[in-house]
Amino acid sequence: MSKAAAQVVVGRAALETIRRGHPWVWRRAVSRADPRLDAGEEVVLVGPGGRTLGFGVWDPESPIAVRVWGSGDGRVDEHLFASRLERAFAIRAGLFGDGGTTAYRLVNGEGDRAPGLVVDRYGHVAVLKADGAAAMTLVHRFARVLETPLRAIGVSCLVWRKGGKREQAQSETLFGHEPPQTVTVSELGIPFVVDLARGQKTGAFLDQRDNRQRVGRMGQGRTVLNLFSYAGGFSVHAARGGASRVTSVDVAAGAHATAQESFRTAGVSVERHEFVTADAFRFLAEAKARGRLWDLVISDPPSFAPSEKALPRALTAYRSLHRACADVLAPDGILCLASCSSHVDTSSFASTLDDVALGRSDLRLLALHGAPPDHPTLPAWPEGRYLKFAILA
Ligand code: SAH
Repeated sequence: MSKAAAQVVVGRAALETIRRGHPWVWRRAVSRADPRLDAGEEVVLVGPGGRTLGFGVWDPESPIAVRVWGSGDGRVDEHLFASRLERAFAIRAGLFGDGGTTAYRLVNGEGDRAPGLVVDRYGHVAVLKADGAAAMTLVHRFARVLETPLRAIGVSCLVWRKGGKREQAQSETLFGHEPPQTVTVSELGIPFVVDLARGQKTGAFLDQRDNRQRVGRMGQGRTVLNLFSYAGGFSVHAARGGASRVTSVDVAAGAHATAQESFRTAGVSVERHEFVTADAFRFLAEAKARGRLWDLVISDPPSFAPSEKALPRALTAYRSLHRACADVLAPDGILCLASCSSHVDTSSFASTLDDVALGRSDLRLLALHGAPPDHPTLPAWPEGRYLKFAILA
Protein backbone atom coordinates (compact mmCIF):
# COMPACT_ATOMS: atom_id res chain seq x y z
CA MET A 1 0.00 0.00 0.00
CA SER A 2 1.52 3.37 -0.99
CA LYS A 3 1.46 6.10 1.62
CA ALA A 4 -1.38 8.60 1.74
CA ALA A 5 -0.89 11.71 -0.39
CA ALA A 6 0.00 14.94 1.43
CA GLN A 7 -2.50 17.80 1.45
CA VAL A 8 -1.86 21.07 -0.36
CA VAL A 9 -4.29 23.85 0.52
CA VAL A 10 -5.03 26.41 -2.17
CA GLY A 11 -6.55 29.88 -1.87
CA ARG A 12 -10.02 30.89 -3.00
CA ALA A 13 -8.83 32.26 -6.35
CA ALA A 14 -7.47 28.88 -7.46
CA LEU A 15 -10.71 27.01 -6.66
CA GLU A 16 -12.53 27.96 -9.82
CA THR A 17 -9.57 27.51 -12.19
CA ILE A 18 -8.94 24.01 -10.84
CA ARG A 19 -12.62 23.18 -11.12
CA ARG A 20 -12.65 24.32 -14.74
CA GLY A 21 -9.78 21.96 -15.48
CA HIS A 22 -6.71 24.16 -15.53
CA PRO A 23 -3.86 21.67 -14.99
CA TRP A 24 -1.48 23.99 -13.11
CA VAL A 25 -1.50 25.35 -9.57
CA TRP A 26 0.85 28.34 -9.35
CA ARG A 27 3.03 28.55 -6.27
CA ARG A 28 1.46 31.87 -5.33
CA ALA A 29 -1.95 30.14 -5.20
CA VAL A 30 -0.79 27.66 -2.53
CA SER A 31 -1.74 28.78 0.97
CA ARG A 32 -0.41 25.77 2.88
CA ALA A 33 1.90 22.85 2.04
CA ASP A 34 4.42 20.74 3.94
CA PRO A 35 7.82 22.34 3.23
CA ARG A 36 9.44 18.89 3.19
CA LEU A 37 7.54 17.71 0.09
CA ASP A 38 9.82 16.28 -2.59
CA ALA A 39 9.63 16.66 -6.36
CA GLY A 40 7.09 14.24 -7.81
CA GLU A 41 5.32 13.52 -4.53
CA GLU A 42 1.62 12.90 -4.89
CA VAL A 43 -0.57 15.54 -3.32
CA VAL A 44 -4.28 16.09 -2.70
CA LEU A 45 -5.54 19.59 -3.48
CA VAL A 46 -7.84 20.99 -0.84
CA GLY A 47 -9.84 24.23 -0.92
CA PRO A 48 -9.84 26.78 1.92
CA GLY A 49 -13.03 25.16 3.28
CA GLY A 50 -11.44 21.70 3.36
CA ARG A 51 -13.13 20.33 0.22
CA THR A 52 -11.07 17.96 -1.94
CA LEU A 53 -10.57 19.52 -5.39
CA GLY A 54 -8.22 17.16 -7.14
CA PHE A 55 -4.88 15.42 -7.05
CA GLY A 56 -1.52 15.77 -8.70
CA VAL A 57 2.25 15.89 -8.25
CA TRP A 58 4.36 18.44 -6.40
CA ASP A 59 7.27 20.46 -7.73
CA PRO A 60 9.24 22.29 -5.02
CA GLU A 61 11.04 24.68 -7.40
CA SER A 62 9.05 25.55 -10.51
CA PRO A 63 6.54 28.44 -10.42
CA ILE A 64 4.03 25.65 -11.16
CA ALA A 65 3.77 24.03 -7.72
CA VAL A 66 1.35 21.26 -8.65
CA ARG A 67 0.55 19.59 -11.96
CA VAL A 68 -3.04 18.40 -11.64
CA TRP A 69 -3.80 14.87 -12.85
CA GLY A 70 -7.49 14.74 -12.03
CA SER A 71 -10.42 16.08 -10.07
CA GLY A 72 -11.75 14.62 -6.83
CA ASP A 73 -9.89 11.70 -5.28
CA GLY A 74 -7.34 9.66 -7.18
CA ARG A 75 -3.77 8.40 -7.39
CA VAL A 76 -1.09 9.27 -9.93
CA ASP A 77 -0.08 5.71 -10.69
CA GLU A 78 0.56 3.28 -13.53
CA HIS A 79 -3.11 2.40 -13.74
CA LEU A 80 -4.17 6.02 -14.26
CA PHE A 81 -1.38 6.63 -16.78
CA ALA A 82 -2.40 3.52 -18.74
CA SER A 83 -5.96 4.79 -19.02
CA ARG A 84 -4.75 8.21 -20.21
CA LEU A 85 -2.54 6.48 -22.79
CA GLU A 86 -5.36 4.36 -24.07
CA ARG A 87 -7.40 7.43 -24.98
CA ALA A 88 -4.43 9.34 -26.35
CA PHE A 89 -3.44 6.45 -28.64
CA ALA A 90 -7.05 5.92 -29.78
CA ILE A 91 -7.28 9.57 -30.89
CA ARG A 92 -4.04 9.26 -32.93
CA ALA A 93 -5.16 5.99 -34.49
CA GLY A 94 -8.19 7.89 -35.78
CA LEU A 95 -6.06 10.77 -37.07
CA PHE A 96 -3.20 8.89 -38.72
CA GLY A 97 -4.73 5.54 -39.64
CA ASP A 98 -4.07 6.06 -43.38
CA GLY A 99 -0.28 5.87 -42.86
CA GLY A 100 0.53 9.09 -44.75
CA THR A 101 1.96 10.62 -41.58
CA THR A 102 4.40 8.61 -39.50
CA ALA A 103 5.70 11.43 -37.27
CA TYR A 104 3.22 12.78 -34.77
CA ARG A 105 2.63 13.56 -31.13
CA LEU A 106 1.25 10.55 -29.28
CA VAL A 107 0.95 12.18 -25.87
CA ASN A 108 0.69 15.96 -25.49
CA GLY A 109 1.20 16.35 -21.74
CA GLU A 110 -1.49 18.45 -20.08
CA GLY A 111 -3.62 18.34 -23.25
CA ASP A 112 -3.89 14.56 -22.90
CA ARG A 113 -4.29 14.89 -19.13
CA ALA A 114 -0.79 13.50 -18.55
CA PRO A 115 0.85 16.71 -17.26
CA GLY A 116 4.47 17.32 -18.20
CA LEU A 117 4.83 14.17 -20.29
CA VAL A 118 5.22 14.41 -24.05
CA VAL A 119 5.77 11.46 -26.38
CA ASP A 120 6.49 11.97 -30.08
CA ARG A 121 6.58 9.19 -32.63
CA TYR A 122 9.10 9.15 -35.49
CA GLY A 123 8.35 5.97 -37.39
CA HIS A 124 9.66 3.07 -35.30
CA VAL A 125 11.24 5.39 -32.70
CA ALA A 126 9.43 7.23 -29.89
CA VAL A 127 10.96 10.16 -28.00
CA LEU A 128 9.81 11.19 -24.54
CA LYS A 129 10.24 14.60 -22.94
CA ALA A 130 9.45 15.37 -19.32
CA ASP A 131 8.76 18.99 -18.43
CA GLY A 132 9.72 19.86 -14.86
CA ALA A 133 11.17 18.00 -11.90
CA ALA A 134 7.83 16.39 -10.96
CA ALA A 135 7.31 14.76 -14.36
CA MET A 136 10.94 13.58 -14.43
CA THR A 137 10.40 11.47 -11.33
CA LEU A 138 7.61 9.60 -13.14
CA VAL A 139 9.56 8.68 -16.27
CA HIS A 140 11.01 5.30 -15.34
CA ARG A 141 7.80 4.01 -13.78
CA PHE A 142 5.66 5.17 -16.68
CA ALA A 143 8.06 4.02 -19.42
CA ARG A 144 7.11 0.45 -18.47
CA VAL A 145 3.45 1.33 -19.06
CA LEU A 146 4.29 2.83 -22.45
CA GLU A 147 6.12 -0.21 -23.78
CA THR A 148 3.14 -2.46 -24.61
CA PRO A 149 0.99 0.12 -26.48
CA LEU A 150 4.06 1.51 -28.28
CA ARG A 151 5.18 -1.92 -29.47
CA ALA A 152 1.61 -2.63 -30.57
CA ILE A 153 1.76 0.27 -33.06
CA GLY A 154 5.21 -0.72 -34.35
CA VAL A 155 7.52 1.39 -32.17
CA SER A 156 10.59 -0.63 -31.22
CA CYS A 157 12.45 1.83 -28.96
CA LEU A 158 11.69 4.66 -26.58
CA VAL A 159 14.27 7.37 -25.89
CA TRP A 160 14.12 9.96 -23.12
CA ARG A 161 15.39 13.30 -24.40
CA LYS A 162 16.60 15.02 -21.23
CA GLY A 163 17.31 18.73 -20.78
CA GLY A 164 20.45 20.36 -22.06
CA LYS A 165 20.95 22.52 -25.09
CA ARG A 166 21.11 21.07 -28.58
CA GLU A 167 24.40 19.22 -29.05
CA GLN A 168 24.78 18.51 -25.33
CA ALA A 169 21.27 17.11 -25.01
CA GLN A 170 21.37 13.93 -22.94
CA SER A 171 19.44 10.87 -23.99
CA GLU A 172 18.56 7.63 -22.26
CA THR A 173 17.05 4.60 -23.96
CA LEU A 174 14.06 3.51 -21.89
CA PHE A 175 13.33 0.31 -23.82
CA GLY A 176 14.38 -1.40 -27.04
CA HIS A 177 17.46 -0.87 -29.19
CA GLU A 178 19.63 2.24 -29.47
CA PRO A 179 17.88 4.75 -31.74
CA PRO A 180 19.46 5.58 -35.12
CA GLN A 181 21.06 9.03 -35.58
CA THR A 182 18.48 9.97 -38.19
CA VAL A 183 15.18 8.51 -39.26
CA THR A 184 13.14 9.08 -42.41
CA VAL A 185 9.47 9.71 -41.72
CA SER A 186 6.49 10.75 -43.80
CA GLU A 187 4.51 13.94 -43.22
CA LEU A 188 1.20 14.05 -45.10
CA GLY A 189 2.77 11.89 -47.80
CA ILE A 190 6.05 13.84 -48.03
CA PRO A 191 9.24 12.17 -46.79
CA PHE A 192 11.43 13.96 -44.22
CA VAL A 193 14.73 13.27 -42.54
CA VAL A 194 14.68 13.86 -38.78
CA ASP A 195 17.93 14.30 -36.86
CA LEU A 196 17.17 12.45 -33.63
CA ALA A 197 20.66 12.83 -32.22
CA ARG A 198 21.16 16.57 -32.67
CA GLY A 199 17.74 17.98 -33.53
CA GLN A 200 15.82 20.48 -31.44
CA LYS A 201 12.86 19.57 -29.21
CA THR A 202 12.23 15.85 -29.68
CA GLY A 203 13.75 16.06 -33.21
CA ALA A 204 11.24 18.09 -35.21
CA PHE A 205 8.51 20.70 -34.82
CA LEU A 206 5.48 18.50 -35.36
CA ASP A 207 3.08 21.28 -34.39
CA GLN A 208 3.51 23.03 -37.78
CA ARG A 209 2.54 19.97 -39.86
CA ASP A 210 -0.80 21.29 -41.16
CA ASN A 211 0.62 24.78 -41.67
CA ARG A 212 3.46 23.30 -43.74
CA GLN A 213 0.85 21.61 -45.91
CA ARG A 214 -0.97 24.96 -46.28
CA VAL A 215 2.28 26.53 -47.47
CA GLY A 216 2.76 23.65 -49.90
CA ARG A 217 -0.63 24.33 -51.41
CA MET A 218 0.06 28.06 -51.77
CA GLY A 219 3.57 27.60 -53.16
CA GLN A 220 2.72 26.76 -56.79
CA GLY A 221 4.74 28.96 -59.14
CA ARG A 222 5.87 31.32 -56.37
CA THR A 223 9.26 32.37 -55.06
CA VAL A 224 9.35 31.47 -51.36
CA LEU A 225 11.42 32.87 -48.48
CA ASN A 226 11.43 30.59 -45.41
CA LEU A 227 12.90 32.37 -42.38
CA PHE A 228 14.00 30.34 -39.32
CA SER A 229 13.80 27.32 -41.59
CA TYR A 230 15.37 24.72 -39.21
CA ALA A 231 15.27 21.34 -40.98
CA GLY A 232 13.40 22.83 -43.96
CA GLY A 233 9.89 21.63 -43.19
CA PHE A 234 8.12 24.56 -44.87
CA SER A 235 10.76 24.60 -47.62
CA VAL A 236 10.24 20.97 -48.67
CA HIS A 237 6.46 21.37 -48.72
CA ALA A 238 6.77 24.58 -50.77
CA ALA A 239 9.19 22.99 -53.25
CA ARG A 240 7.03 19.89 -53.61
CA GLY A 241 4.03 22.19 -54.06
CA GLY A 242 5.69 23.68 -57.13
CA ALA A 243 7.46 26.78 -55.80
CA SER A 244 9.78 28.17 -58.48
CA ARG A 245 12.58 28.90 -55.98
CA VAL A 246 12.86 28.48 -52.21
CA THR A 247 15.28 30.45 -50.03
CA SER A 248 15.79 28.92 -46.56
CA VAL A 249 17.41 31.05 -43.85
CA ASP A 250 18.61 29.80 -40.45
CA VAL A 251 21.56 30.64 -38.18
CA ALA A 252 22.26 26.94 -37.67
CA ALA A 253 24.28 25.45 -40.54
CA GLY A 254 23.57 21.95 -39.22
CA ALA A 255 19.86 22.47 -39.78
CA HIS A 256 20.50 23.12 -43.49
CA ALA A 257 22.39 19.82 -43.79
CA THR A 258 19.29 17.97 -42.55
CA ALA A 259 17.06 20.10 -44.79
CA GLN A 260 19.14 19.21 -47.84
CA GLU A 261 18.87 15.52 -47.01
CA SER A 262 15.10 15.94 -46.83
CA PHE A 263 15.05 17.71 -50.21
CA ARG A 264 16.92 14.80 -51.79
CA THR A 265 14.72 12.21 -50.07
CA ALA A 266 11.63 14.06 -51.30
CA GLY A 267 13.03 14.08 -54.85
CA VAL A 268 13.67 17.85 -54.98
CA SER A 269 16.94 19.12 -56.45
CA VAL A 270 18.91 21.21 -53.92
CA GLU A 271 20.70 23.05 -56.74
CA ARG A 272 17.55 24.97 -57.65
CA HIS A 273 17.14 26.25 -54.11
CA GLU A 274 19.10 28.51 -51.80
CA PHE A 275 20.22 27.72 -48.23
CA VAL A 276 21.53 30.74 -46.33
CA THR A 277 23.24 30.48 -42.95
CA ALA A 278 22.53 33.89 -41.43
CA ASP A 279 20.70 35.87 -38.81
CA ALA A 280 17.20 36.40 -40.18
CA PHE A 281 17.00 40.07 -39.11
CA ARG A 282 20.28 40.85 -40.83
CA PHE A 283 19.31 38.86 -43.91
CA LEU A 284 16.06 40.84 -44.20
CA ALA A 285 17.84 44.19 -43.85
CA GLU A 286 20.27 43.27 -46.64
CA ALA A 287 17.52 41.90 -48.86
CA LYS A 288 15.58 45.14 -48.49
CA ALA A 289 18.66 47.22 -49.27
CA ARG A 290 19.14 45.18 -52.44
CA GLY A 291 15.46 45.41 -53.38
CA ARG A 292 14.89 41.65 -53.30
CA LEU A 293 11.25 40.49 -53.18
CA TRP A 294 9.51 37.14 -52.66
CA ASP A 295 5.96 36.04 -53.47
CA LEU A 296 5.54 34.05 -50.25
CA VAL A 297 7.37 34.86 -47.01
CA ILE A 298 7.27 32.57 -43.97
CA SER A 299 8.54 33.54 -40.52
CA ASP A 300 8.60 30.93 -37.73
CA PRO A 301 11.04 32.21 -35.09
CA PRO A 302 11.88 30.66 -31.72
CA SER A 303 9.88 32.04 -28.80
CA PHE A 304 10.70 35.70 -28.11
CA ALA A 305 8.89 35.70 -24.74
CA PRO A 306 10.32 33.19 -22.26
CA SER A 307 8.31 34.84 -19.46
CA GLU A 308 5.36 37.15 -18.87
CA LYS A 309 7.84 39.91 -18.00
CA ALA A 310 9.51 39.65 -21.40
CA LEU A 311 6.20 40.24 -23.22
CA PRO A 312 6.52 43.96 -24.13
CA ARG A 313 9.99 43.41 -25.55
CA ALA A 314 8.82 40.31 -27.42
CA LEU A 315 5.93 42.20 -29.04
CA THR A 316 8.35 44.89 -30.21
CA ALA A 317 10.59 42.18 -31.70
CA TYR A 318 7.64 40.53 -33.50
CA ARG A 319 6.57 43.93 -34.88
CA SER A 320 9.99 44.72 -36.29
CA LEU A 321 10.37 41.21 -37.72
CA HIS A 322 6.94 41.36 -39.35
CA ARG A 323 7.64 44.82 -40.75
CA ALA A 324 10.90 43.52 -42.26
CA CYS A 325 9.02 40.55 -43.80
CA ALA A 326 6.39 42.88 -45.29
CA ASP A 327 9.22 44.99 -46.76
CA VAL A 328 10.45 42.10 -48.92
CA LEU A 329 6.99 40.91 -50.00
CA ALA A 330 6.18 41.22 -53.69
CA PRO A 331 2.90 42.85 -54.77
CA ASP A 332 0.12 40.21 -54.47
CA GLY A 333 2.37 38.25 -52.13
CA ILE A 334 1.41 36.07 -49.16
CA LEU A 335 2.82 36.47 -45.65
CA CYS A 336 2.81 33.54 -43.19
CA LEU A 337 3.80 34.76 -39.73
CA ALA A 338 4.05 32.45 -36.73
CA SER A 339 4.62 32.75 -33.00
CA CYS A 340 5.18 29.88 -30.59
CA SER A 341 5.29 32.03 -27.42
CA SER A 342 2.60 30.95 -24.97
CA HIS A 343 2.76 34.37 -23.30
CA VAL A 344 1.67 36.02 -26.56
CA ASP A 345 -2.08 35.51 -26.85
CA THR A 346 -4.05 35.83 -30.08
CA SER A 347 -5.00 39.48 -29.68
CA SER A 348 -1.46 40.57 -28.74
CA PHE A 349 -0.19 38.62 -31.72
CA ALA A 350 -2.72 40.37 -33.97
CA SER A 351 -1.29 43.70 -32.77
CA THR A 352 2.02 42.72 -34.40
CA LEU A 353 0.27 42.19 -37.76
CA ASP A 354 -1.90 45.26 -38.10
CA ASP A 355 -1.48 48.14 -40.54
CA VAL A 356 0.72 50.15 -38.18
CA ALA A 357 2.95 47.15 -37.42
CA LEU A 358 3.37 46.19 -41.07
CA GLY A 359 3.56 49.76 -42.34
CA ARG A 360 0.98 49.17 -45.07
CA SER A 361 -2.79 49.04 -45.41
CA ASP A 362 -3.31 46.65 -48.32
CA LEU A 363 -3.19 43.28 -46.55
CA ARG A 364 -5.97 41.18 -45.05
CA LEU A 365 -5.83 38.31 -42.59
CA LEU A 366 -6.99 35.21 -44.45
CA ALA A 367 -6.67 32.79 -41.54
CA LEU A 368 -5.19 32.34 -38.11
CA HIS A 369 -4.30 28.73 -37.44
CA GLY A 370 -2.87 26.84 -34.48
CA ALA A 371 -1.43 23.40 -33.85
CA PRO A 372 -3.02 20.24 -35.34
CA PRO A 373 -5.25 17.83 -33.34
CA ASP A 374 -2.39 15.56 -32.24
CA HIS A 375 -1.53 18.56 -29.99
CA PRO A 376 -4.79 18.75 -28.02
CA THR A 377 -5.22 21.38 -25.31
CA LEU A 378 -7.81 21.89 -22.59
CA PRO A 379 -10.46 24.62 -22.87
CA ALA A 380 -9.46 26.01 -19.46
CA TRP A 381 -5.74 25.99 -20.31
CA PRO A 382 -4.98 28.88 -22.68
CA GLU A 383 -1.22 28.40 -22.17
CA GLY A 384 -1.54 25.22 -24.21
CA ARG A 385 -2.62 27.16 -27.29
CA TYR A 386 0.80 28.70 -27.80
CA LEU A 387 1.06 28.37 -31.60
CA LYS A 388 -0.29 31.11 -33.84
CA PHE A 389 0.07 30.98 -37.63
CA ALA A 390 -1.31 33.96 -39.52
CA ILE A 391 -1.79 34.01 -43.28
CA LEU A 392 -2.03 37.50 -44.78
CA ALA A 393 -2.44 38.44 -48.40
N1 SAH B 1 9.99 26.39 -39.14
C1 SAH B 1 10.70 25.27 -38.57
C2 SAH B 1 10.95 25.41 -37.08
C3 SAH B 1 11.69 26.69 -36.70
S1 SAH B 1 12.45 26.59 -35.11
C4 SAH B 1 9.96 23.96 -38.89
O1 SAH B 1 8.89 23.99 -39.49
O2 SAH B 1 10.45 22.90 -38.54
C5 SAH B 1 13.35 28.07 -35.02
C6 SAH B 1 14.64 28.09 -35.81
O3 SAH B 1 15.13 29.42 -35.76
C7 SAH B 1 15.78 27.22 -35.29
O4 SAH B 1 16.19 26.35 -36.29
C8 SAH B 1 16.92 28.20 -34.95
O5 SAH B 1 18.21 27.72 -35.32
C9 SAH B 1 16.56 29.39 -35.79
N2 SAH B 1 17.01 30.71 -35.33
C10 SAH B 1 17.04 31.20 -34.06
N3 SAH B 1 17.42 32.50 -34.06
C11 SAH B 1 17.64 32.84 -35.36
C12 SAH B 1 18.03 34.04 -36.01
N4 SAH B 1 18.26 35.18 -35.32
N5 SAH B 1 18.14 34.05 -37.35
C13 SAH B 1 17.89 32.92 -38.07
N6 SAH B 1 17.52 31.76 -37.50
C14 SAH B 1 17.39 31.71 -36.17
